[in-house]
Amino acid sequence: MEEKKTRKRLQANTALRQIIVDFYAEGHRAKAEGRPVIWIPPMNGLIELFYAMGITPVFPENWAPLCAAIGTNRKNFEYAAKRGFSGDLCGYFRNNVGYALDGINEENQPLNGLPAPDFLISFGAGCIPTMKAFQVMCDHFKVPVFKADLPQVAMEKIEKRHIAYGVAQIKRLIRFLEDETGLKFDIDKLRQAVIHTNEACRLWDEIMALRSTVPSPFSAAEIGIMFVMVTRHGTEIAVNFLKDVLREVNEKVARGEGVIPHEKIRLFWDNIPLWYNMQLFNYFEKWDAVVVAETYTSAWSLRLNPDEPLESIAYKSLVSYPLVSCVSLNKRIELITRAVRDYKIDGAILHSNRSCRPISMGQMDIGRVLADELSVPSVMFDGDHMDSEKFSMAQFQTRVDALMEMILEKKRAS
Ligand code: SF4
Repeated sequence: MEEKKTRKRLQANTALRQIIVDFYAEGHRAKAEGRPVIWIPPMNGLIELFYAMGITPVFPENWAPLCAAIGTNRKNFEYAAKRGFSGDLCGYFRNNVGYALDGINEENQPLNGLPAPDFLISFGAGCIPTMKAFQVMCDHFKVPVFKADLPQVAMEKIEKRHIAYGVAQIKRLIRFLEDETGLKFDIDKLRQAVIHTNEACRLWDEIMALRSTVPSPFSAAEIGIMFVMVTRHGTEIAVNFLKDVLREVNEKVARGEGVIPHEKIRLFWDNIPLWYNMQLFNYFEKWDAVVVAETYTSAWSLRLNPDEPLESIAYKSLVSYPLVSCVSLNKRIELITRAVRDYKIDGAILHSNRSCRPISMGQMDIGRVLADELSVPSVMFDGDHMDSEKFSMAQFQTRVDALMEMILEKKRAS
């Protein structure tokens, strides 16, 4: 079969690379200048609070995909194994614990590695591996620790009392930060951070919606742009970057320029991608197929209210995980059903992720709904978003090829 290459990646990737470099450099600069560096779990409303208070946040979980992309994850897995952590645990956990306990001491690390924490904030309604990783780090680093657990509530069931509880925990955190750092909390600065996040989420939705265009202007290979949603919420950096992405994507749509020359098949991807092999998304090109929507990218489809900044970041802390890993099956099915309609999906790839059981649960039911109610064929493959040893390219190719044949046969028959 003739090899057909991706036309081109988004130019925004050049700016993204610089944003990544700057983010890690900023952490090291803060450390060198004696400003506080705080490690926090990802996907919560505290990022707005930290940026509003002039505190530099570091997200060990966000470091993990970078480690997978550059290959240092294997060393971190070894460190975690030597400390007695099972290879069956989530790859983020193994990477982050191995790195925090031992890898951090290595010399000549890419991006100079992570600056050591001055404080640890274990906060949120995260999955067990996320919160356990912080427990290990809290035991390891001899620094002040703030802990607060939020309830894991399905997002459709969040009530005012959950928000009020979250606000109470955030107020407790503010007192902790003021006491420990001497910095002062300013509600107007938080409001501004919330405005930035809200705008970033709005732009994100607009960009993602453009992928419903036929041909799709970009594929899942570009979802590294979510780096700004994890690390730069609450700042103009995310807003300005996303404005540039939106402009570029809009121009591609206006030119009718798809990510591949002759798009025939539009795919949905369920679960986290393989961070060590993002080129995998190019495999579909031989079938003139593109992944145009994913479950993962929906995590930033939320809105915050700048008039209620504390309630907004409490809400964000409560919903962030439900949008990714604690989402109810009904909600996921609803989300995928909508995506199938909006993005004109022909087939779905269900990544049964050894690392992330929370996101993998329910995939058999999703496959059944896709087939029985939406007449959309799907295929499931075994993989792991962090560990290449738990992924078989041969199995992936065999199953994907069978799915593509099925979709093409269906198209021929219709
Ligand atoms: S949500 Fe999944 S991938 Fe993320 S830390 Fe939890 S188990 Fe790992």
